Amino acid sequence: MSDCIFCKIISKEIPSEIIYEDENTLVFLDINPATKGHCLVIPKEHYETILDVPEDVLCKVIKTVKKISSALSKTNPGMSVVQSNGRAAHQEVDHIHFHVIPRSENDGQLLTWKAGSYAENESKSIANEIRSSITP
Ligand code: 5GP
Ligand code: ZN
Repeated sequence: MSDCIFCKIISKEIPSEIIYEDENTLVFLDINPATKGHCLVIPKEHYETILDVPEDVLCKVIKTVKKISSALSKTNPGMSVVQSNGRAAHQEVDHIHFHVIPRSENDGQLLTWKAGSYAENESKSIANEIRSSITP
């Protein structure tokens, strides 16, 4: 896609610190890392979100996520894998990507959420609503 910054990174039109590349996927350093070594893993074909990417492509991307997580785990005790879809989830770049973020006990990052709760029977109705939305 011509105006996509990650497509331009794939085509090397704009520079990035590439960590790994194969036929279908690319890994490069995030320009504004949450922690040092923060990587982005993307498919080489342009798809916007997890809803758009075909399953076989997604499988290849997740295999690369594991490969890079393995590499990072040699020097980091923990790893957060984050993937956001849509503006409401703060997706900034509309080319599906997985963040692989090296973690250590006191790295100063939160990457967490406020714990909520359900009212009585609310979890049952929400669970039913989700179950009925699953397509076989
Ligand atoms: P999102 O918020 O969409 O999940 O994450 C997009 C990520 O892309 C951000 O963490 C941001 O720092 C990174 N990013 C945006 N533009 C560039 C760029 O030109 N080069 C690199 N290496 N990373 C970028
Ligand atoms: Zn793209």
